[in-house]
Amino acid sequence: MNIILLGPPGAGKGTHSKNLVENYNYYHFSTGDLLREEVKKKTKLGEKIFNLISKGDFVSDEIVNEILINTVSNDLYKNQIIFDGYPRNLEQANNLNKIFKKNNLLIGSVIYLKVSKEIIEQRILNRVICEKCKKIFNKLINHEEIKNHKCGEKYLKKRNDDDKGVILKRFDTYKNETKPVLDFYSNQKNYFEIDASTEIDEITRKIEEIIKV
Ligand code: AMP
Repeated sequence: MNIILLGPPGAGKGTHSKNLVENYNYYHFSTGDLLREEVKKKTKLGEKIFNLISKGDFVSDEIVNEILINTVSNDLYKNQIIFDGYPRNLEQANNLNKIFKKNNLLIGSVIYLKVSKEIIEQRILNRVICEKCKKIFNKLINHEEIKNHKCGEKYLKKRNDDDKGVILKRFDTYKNETKPVLDFYSNQKNYFEIDASTEIDEITRKIEEIIKV
């Protein structure tokens, strides 16, 4: 069944989504990754997206909703999607509900990765991502993994919205826009909160416990 991962930027949504894809049969729907792919293509739309992302602003609902439809309507991923970065505001949450009803799709669990602003800042400032496989590393913690990464160290890059000023803006945007999404889901019985400031393995274990319910 589908999983929605919620949490501020740097909470670990991408990392845990990738772990779940490696170990279970899921498709990782990351609006951020898909938007960055469009930026790479250097299209007019990509340029527009770049200008918004690099300031820490949201891309329009119209653009992300279109990306969503392309994924949700694909039978290959039916009820096997991890939503990472969507929904990010109330309108998107309502839109997702509508689309789910229309397509007979089910939300298995909504998991909120809870973590403080201070930890997020440290994580994001030290985050590098493989341009090829999209695996995420922390420069302070993952020395060995970085050295031995299968694609090669040269592909590990910082995201250009991962600088201090933009992080603070992204956190504010998250507080204003995404926090109401938590209220939207939090009274449902498939809503779970996890302390995401602990070790990755511990968080993985808790997520696995939830999705196996
Ligand atoms: P992420 O990789 O999830 O941290 O997303 C990076 C950036 O992409 C965000 O800071 C937003 O600018 C944009 N973005 C990602 N998902 C959405 C969304 N659902 N709605 C609007 N903008 C988004």
